[in-house]
Amino acid sequence: MRPPSGALWSLTLVCLACETGPAIYEHTGFAMGTVAQLKVVAYDASPAEEALVRAMAELARIERITTVYSDSSDVARLARDAGGDPRALPEDLDWILESALRVAERSGGAFDPTAGPLVRAWGFPEEPALPDSVDLAAALELVSWEGCSKTEEGWQLTVAGMELDLGGIAKGYAVDRAADALAAVTGNCLVNVGGDLAVRGSRPGRSGWHIGIQDPREPSRLFLKIQVSGNRAVATSGDYQRAFDVDGIRYHHILDPRRGWPAGELRSVTVVAPTCELADAWATAAFVLGPEEGLEALEAHPDLEGVLVEEDEKGDLVLHRTSGMVALEVGG
Ligand code: ADP
Ligand code: MG
Repeated sequence: MRPPSGALWSLTLVCLACETGPAIYEHTGFAMGTVAQLKVVAYDASPAEEALVRAMAELARIERITTVYSDSSDVARLARDAGGDPRALPEDLDWILESALRVAERSGGAFDPTAGPLVRAWGFPEEPALPDSVDLAAALELVSWEGCSKTEEGWQLTVAGMELDLGGIAKGYAVDRAADALAAVTGNCLVNVGGDLAVRGSRPGRSGWHIGIQDPREPSRLFLKIQVSGNRAVATSGDYQRAFDVDGIRYHHILDPRRGWPAGELRSVTVVAPTCELADAWATAAFVLGPEEGLEALEAHPDLEGVLVEEDEKGDLVLHRTSGMVALEVGG
């Protein structure tokens, strides 16, 4: 259940070089179904507070545009028009779809923004359960990123019944827009929405921001720490985020659109990218691709780094890192 928006509203001032230097102003709120933690470096409280309010509004705006849970959203309308006429979409959604389709193509369909019918067949997020095999096959027929196309008149899902699900990319895009709002103050900020985050610049007195990566076996524990600076983003996809058990088998919300079942080989994937939209989508894509192909796909993109986490039979974690990942790691 989602608390009323603004229920967690609080502003904390973390004074660093209190007298003259900049300080970090923080806000913790609720957005995109999870906790949003925002930090902005500023010399005064009032521009910081205004930027924090604007950043929270950006998160809410992107959630409204991308959600599949509102009949009046553009995403819902596109699904209703599936098999019919194309429809013009707002600029943000246009951008997200272009980006999602690029990741879909480059990941060979491991990431698929038309996964809607499949996610629905598994009952995520409200009532997840094992789907009936006939329903699953019917849903899978409708999942095809190539059936989502842009014409001069707008966007179109080519077959009736097709539906988008932007759950693997929308949060990342929203994080980027919130970071833009905060960066207007001094260019130094951090936005963290449920573990998907973007930074700009650095913490006062430091050369970057330190980011902890969750242990997939025990998400309250951080098992890796990295330092990122400039315009960088980090996102994690894990099998622990939404899952249910049947007869001792764990089923989770990252589905392989080529087979219709939860992707089985990894526990989590963390991706570092120039934008959170890319980090988010590629974390989902690499998770579906698995340790070898996932690592290869990340290595094929010079601006992506990451770590893919597997668990061996003894319960030990096995880490597969891209070549530039180790350079980002800092001592725990
Ligand atoms: P989160 O950060 O919300 O846990 P992820 O970024 O890992 O989520 O994306 C998982 C979500 O994306 C699912 O809840 C579902 O809505 C959607 N999804 C699941 N499988 C895929 C896929 N293969 N490609 C694209 N989206 C997916
Ligand atoms: Mg994702």
